[in-house]
Parts: sequence; structure tokens; C-alpha cells
Amino acid sequence: MEDFTALLKKHNLKVTPQRLKIITMLHAHGHINIEDLFSEIREEFPNVSLATIYKNIHQMTESGLVREVKIPSLKSVYEVAKEPHLHMVCDKCHKVEDIVLDTDKIIEEAEKVSGYKIEESFITLRGICPECRHK
Ligand SMILES: [Zn+2]
Ligand SMILES: [Zn+2]
Repeated sequence: MEDFTALLKKHNLKVTPQRLKIITMLHAHGHINIEDLFSEIREEFPNVSLATIYKNIHQMTESGLVREVKIPSLKSVYEVAKEPHLHMVCDKCHKVEDIVLDTDKIIEEAEKVSGYKIEESFITLRGICPECRHK
């Protein structure tokens, strides 16, 4: 179990029960969208509003603790920021998974071709996951 209190503090975020719950859930789920996060948090904090969740997620994203993962044609999901990685999205069950690949070559190639200095990349691959393929 990681020390989420220390993690919040490290990112200059005030430690609140809601924030601890959010970070715990992001950690447990890997990736989760706002609505699912909201409905689970409400079980514990019935008075919390969707706007509050948005506000907290926004602050946590701004601080670099949380990362928004934008997925074409699906809702954004959120994760605890970690080493650079790619996302796999299943078209059938819509689960989002991390894969770590060496993208240095692609980035280098892209810089060469475009003349850009690339600062960040968001790579998402879509397909059918092994579980859905074997159904
Ligand atoms: Zn699937
Ligand atoms: Zn991820």
C-alpha cells in the first residue's frame, strides 16, 4: 500500500478525505472515468457533488499527480501519473490497459520528419482484448 497522504503532500495538495479516496480508487482501478469515480465515491461521501469531483480531479491533474487519458470516441479516463506508456483500448469491453513500449524511435522519427521538438505524446491503440477475442 502506497502512502497516498505523502503523495498528495509531495504535489502540494491539501490532504482531504475525498482526495485520498480519489487517489486510492485511481490506484485500484488503473483507469477510471469521472462518472464511475463519482458513483463509487458517493457510496462513502453521499454529499459530494459531481462538480467537487471535477474540481478535485482538475487540481490533481494540474499538480501533475493525475493524468487525463483522452480516448477518441470514449470518455476520458484518469490515472495516477507514472512512467510514459501507451494505452490499449478494447472496442468490445472498453477496458483501458497500459503497455510500456520503447517509443523513442517513433518520437525521433517524428521529429525528423516534422521538424518539431516533441514534448509529450499520447498514443492510444484500439483493438479487441485477449478475453474478448476468446469469447
Ligand atoms: Zn475486451
Ligand atoms: Zn495508463
